[in-house]
Amino acid sequence: MANNLEKAKVIIDNRRNAAEDAAEKRRRELEEVSPELRAVNTEIASAGLRAIKAIGMGQDAGEYIAKLAQENLELQKKRKSILESLGLDENVLDVHYTCPKCEDTGIFDGHYCTCIKSLVTQMQSDNLNMCAPAKTSTFESFRLDYYNGVVIPETGESAYERMSQILAFCKGWAEDFDRNSQSILMFGNTGLGKTHLSLAIANVVVSKGYNVIYKTAGTLFSQLEKERFGRLKGNESPEEEVLSCDLLILDDLGSEFITQFTVSEVYNIINSRMLAGKPTIINTNLKYDEIADKYNPRVYSRIIGDYVPLEFIGFDIRQIKDN
Ligand SMILES: [Zn+2]
Repeated sequence: MANNLEKAKVIIDNRRNAAEDAAEKRRRELEEVSPELRAVNTEIASAGLRAIKAIGMGQDAGEYIAKLAQENLELQKKRKSILESLGLDENVLDVHYTCPKCEDTGIFDGHYCTCIKSLVTQMQSDNLNMCAPAKTSTFESFRLDYYNGVVIPETGESAYERMSQILAFCKGWAEDFDRNSQSILMFGNTGLGKTHLSLAIANVVVSKGYNVIYKTAGTLFSQLEKERFGRLKGNESPEEEVLSCDLLILDDLGSEFITQFTVSEVYNIINSRMLAGKPTIINTNLKYDEIADKYNPRVYSRIIGDYVPLEFIGFDIRQIKDN
């Protein structure tokens, strides 16, 4: 977030400088054409300077400033008619900001302006799309009809019923998202739509202006390992990113090569985010007892205690799609 905000500030500063430079360039070009315009511009500037100086004059200032204001009004009228005679709009010398609301400062009414917020959101959405097929994985493109309506004896409900509930839960969770939302564990066999639904959540959460990081466990742990051994270049550390983002989606936990390092990092990430009250979505093909076996028992107890478990059931929908 911090990094995207800094980038957005640079973009806004560049916009403002470009707009002001363009206005300055237009003024000089027009003054080349019209010496009359140059003269009136000089007079306006000098009246402005005198008004600034007059503020320190004490009791006589009021009357003098009123006189200058009158003078300025007449100069403006004169300039307008010069511009008209050149066939130009009276606003031609104004600075044309991209965002007239904040005049490309990024601050409006003491807060970040909507223009800078939407830049940050755009960058977050671009980041997300670089890591995953996020744009195509939406709630609308999630096909419930891939899930069978036949009741599965072990669960007492059909995949269709279960997935309808999970879909509704995920939609509601995304719509109500805030920085203190509960964490989610999506588990169940591969190919049942866990990645799709977590990216659908990510899309909604990003569009609300939150900072979302999506990573597969394999990618994340290899980045963290490189960072630890100083082989990673770049200004944003992945560790800092995964700990500080508003929502972390850790996909396919258990698919990474498990070492002492990954085991302690999984605990560190889950625990730090929990202590900070930040929500995390973990997807895994592992069963509960496998989580306990592969990782630290403390990881297991954190997940059991604090994550909303969503068990995906049914048959691999990628095979159904292929047929
Ligand atoms: Zn603005």
